[in-house]
Amino acid sequence: MCEYKVRQGIIYLRGIIGEESDFTQLVGAFKEYRIDMKMVININSLGTRRWTAFTAALPQDKLFFLNVPSNVFSLVHIVPSLLGLGSRENCLTRIESYCFEMVCDQCANSLLMTISAKALGKLLVKNQIEYACNVCNAQKMQLTENDLYVLDSILDP
Ligand SMILES: [Zn+2]
Repeated sequence: MCEYKVRQGIIYLRGIIGEESDFTQLVGAFKEYRIDMKMVININSLGTRRWTAFTAALPQDKLFFLNVPSNVFSLVHIVPSLLGLGSRENCLTRIESYCFEMVCDQCANSLLMTISAKALGKLLVKNQIEYACNVCNAQKMQLTENDLYVLDSILDP
């Protein structure tokens, strides 16, 4: 089940995009589409068809994605048109920011962190991404293994 709400011109999605997900009401509703995917848990195989039909129906030069999580980004390899029409490279230019999961080694606290596509392009070494834990104050929160793998695939496709 996937819900959406629109706030200040941004479409926020939440849940699992599946067979029953219906985005037809959004087609033609905006001049520019900025879609926040932070709370998308997954796009299942039946949802993929509905979702790609939706993104294909939007104005491709006015389509942008925010907070793309690693679980969604992994699917772009399999379904390049997941983020609109065109080549994979073309789709990647529509991503404004990514969302990665960081975990604390010490207390297992986890949080989702946004990194803009621009900032990501400037990263030379992936372990530059380090944050102090907001729960236990340990110096290092690190990307989960899965998100590290996905980050590698973005930086070095
Ligand atoms: Zn901690």
